[in-house]
Amino acid sequence: MLLTGGRVIDPANRFDAVADVLVVDGKIAAVGPGLAPGAPAPIQRLEAKGLVVCPGLIDLHAHLREPGQSAKETIATGTASAAQGGFTSVVCMPNTSPAIDNPGTVALIRERAARESKINLFVAGAITKSIAGEELAPIGSLKSAGVIAISDDGHCVQNNDLMRRALEYARMFDLPVLDHCQDYSIVTDGVMHEGYWSAVLGLRGWPASGEELIVSRNILLAGLTGAQVHCQHLSSAGSVQLLREAKKRGIPVSGEACPHHFTLTDTGLAGSEKFWSTDGRDIMAGPPAARPRWPSYDTNFKMNPPLRSAADRAAVIEGLADGTLEIISSDHAPHCDYEKEVEFDLAPFGIIGFETELALALMQLYHSKKLSLSDLIAKFTVAPARLLRLPGKGHLGIGADADLTVFDPGQEWTFDPETSPGKSRNSPFAGWAMKGKARATIVSGTIAWQGRN
Ligand SMILES: [Zn+2]
Repeated sequence: MLLTGGRVIDPANRFDAVADVLVVDGKIAAVGPGLAPGAPAPIQRLEAKGLVVCPGLIDLHAHLREPGQSAKETIATGTASAAQGGFTSVVCMPNTSPAIDNPGTVALIRERAARESKINLFVAGAITKSIAGEELAPIGSLKSAGVIAISDDGHCVQNNDLMRRALEYARMFDLPVLDHCQDYSIVTDGVMHEGYWSAVLGLRGWPASGEELIVSRNILLAGLTGAQVHCQHLSSAGSVQLLREAKKRGIPVSGEACPHHFTLTDTGLAGSEKFWSTDGRDIMAGPPAARPRWPSYDTNFKMNPPLRSAADRAAVIEGLADGTLEIISSDHAPHCDYEKEVEFDLAPFGIIGFETELALALMQLYHSKKLSLSDLIAKFTVAPARLLRLPGKGHLGIGADADLTVFDPGQEWTFDPETSPGKSRNSPFAGWAMKGKARATIVSGTIAWQGRN
């Protein structure tokens, strides 16, 4: 395959120029100008003029719901949605039912993915048995079965000594630990950010300190054990500051942010009118009347950790801009309509995210001039590939896997969840005017998905 005339951006190799990309036998064979004359024939050509060509995007935090909850999503539908969002690799979290805490379940998922997924699916194993936080999962056997990280995501190991032992094992097996940071004793049954709006709306608060306590704990234990701890979906200003200071001291910690946390705030729970007239003022171009509307207490704005204040959102963006947060993920969390269409307190946490992730990142970080295109792409490519120890992914060096994403950073479109190949529709971004869209997703030199402009 030959991709011609695109703006090739490969942050790992500091390459950013109009060039061709030649793929032979599923690997990158050459990157540079004028490769057409020397290309073997016959060859599949893909015209990329006016588009960006970059290493395939990696989303290291997603819930595909298989096994056990295939009414919400399956490996087939979830990876199809990811491909449409421009992702060539996805990591699925282990909070399925049963949990991915044993080699058999890892094998089941990998076999199903080999049959039903057009993109790469990597598996995160559980830290503890049944993600119950009480007894360690067989971490060595999980590694042998092929997991590339461990996580109790959705839950958080509360026992600090157990977490220390998990980190010691993880270090021994060279596995990164991905942690959902939530202190249960502080958060209890909070359903939204604790602040002005939780008081006004009369909903139970989930304070930022509930996240920051565990971020602090993780920094201390990473320092103690030398294991790599990655803090998932960070939402608060305090978490970003803790991570920034720890990284300065050389502690092996890292962090990720999700588009909803750097786009929305807790004002969204008071309804669209309040949001667009305050925290949402600068997000979308065009007349206010054309902006999407939603009611207060909309459960598509309920996620864990919750949407926080405008100051927290600004701090997360600042953390992405200065490199404190090196990875962007979706936390794609599909739920059925009937599950979300209940009282706010009773609705499950989480939103779908694959198809809005790239556009929201471009809008909030690149078009708003907070990050260069290359620095933004790095957070979807080389940074997650390094954390997950995937040397053939995340870059376009000669011999790397020919996973490529082709996208138009300026394409304007409107998100309609009804058009998603995923099974669920729970997105707060329905009807949003987006800027930036994937056009082709290529995995090992084969087109996994291709869209039109
Ligand atoms: Zn989580």
